[in-house]
Amino acid sequence: MKKKTILVSGGAGFIGSHLCERLLNENNKVICLDNLFTGSLKNIEVFKNDNNFEFVNHDITKPYYRDCIDEIYNLACPASPIHYQSNPIKTVKTCTIGVINMLGLAKKNNAKILQASTSEVYGDPEIHPQKEDYNGNVNPHGYRSCYDEGKRCAETLFMDYKREHSLNIKIVRIFNTYGPNMTKNDGRVVSNFILQALNNDNITIYGDGSQTRSFQFIDDLVEGLIKMMKSDSVGPINLGNPIELSMKDLANKVIKLTNSSSDIIYKELPEDDPKRRRPDISLAKSTLDWKPIVDLETGLQETINYFTQS
Ligand code: NAD
Ligand code: UDP
Repeated sequence: MKKKTILVSGGAGFIGSHLCERLLNENNKVICLDNLFTGSLKNIEVFKNDNNFEFVNHDITKPYYRDCIDEIYNLACPASPIHYQSNPIKTVKTCTIGVINMLGLAKKNNAKILQASTSEVYGDPEIHPQKEDYNGNVNPHGYRSCYDEGKRCAETLFMDYKREHSLNIKIVRIFNTYGPNMTKNDGRVVSNFILQALNNDNITIYGDGSQTRSFQFIDDLVEGLIKMMKSDSVGPINLGNPIELSMKDLANKVIKLTNSSSDIIYKELPEDDPKRRRPDISLAKSTLDWKPIVDLETGLQETINYFTQS
């Protein structure tokens, strides 16, 4: 098969670096476009001697011109609440102007383009579990809105480019994902709990810890992204692990797996923090023949090993 040229925006980030690795292993040429806002050269250092890999330091809010691109995965956008809220206007620009630039690049190249959307488009959901036809419950002017509404607008732009320009688009809604290459200080719950447990520091639960999330391991997500790009499906399609647990249960699991002597302490719940989140993945199962296979203990152990070594 002809070698493809695949552009991964946000390729130096957590998910992007794993996706680049998988695409390189499948003998593609990979262009990693990243402004290193939350990503890191350390994540892509292993590819630096690979002739099929190219890193371009570029901010997607500025146009990017390039020919001969077959596929684009648009992952560029900070994902952790502390990062996307640190410069909310920039987050909106990345999700709108940046997305228009990536869609324009796809149009010029007649390339397939996949958008990394998010379970946050469901906001604080009133329907449980969340199916793709649920339109969400999103606060348009809260602290999380720059990300939630930005990602909703990105989906709109993708659909409008399909309708107006017949672009070959794909939208996946990613649920909480964890694994090696997560940034230590990104404030997300899995990295926070693991680091606190490894240091025997207090584990910080926000609120009473009864809020739930469903965590998928990075390898499962990457498999889903590849399957989506190869499929005829437009989406949106949920990609997540439907096994749901409370933050209190997660804290106890991490303490047990790390053999930690940490205590649990409770802090204020951030505004608009969703109470429950679990994907309905029947669409991904039927259209992509995809389901997550890594169980939480195995995935957490691999992530703990990564944080222990780095
Ligand atoms: P991350 O912060 O590790 O990676 C994002 C990458 O995008 C970083 O390398 C960052 O430097 C880059 N970036 C940010 N703004 C940019 C810009 N304007 N121009 C160029 N590069 C830019 O986050 P992640 O967890 O790897 O998330 C990747 C994508 O997946 C994001 O779009 C995110 O919204 C989506 N997503 C992630 C999760 C999750 O649980 N990790 C869940 C839902 C959706
Ligand atoms: N959370 C927590 N302690 C932490 C970090 C996060 O209890 O140290 C909670 C947070 O309030 C939320 C859940 O864990 O209810 C998941 O948070 P994260 O930022 O990882 O993802 P998101 O809220 O975007 O799903």
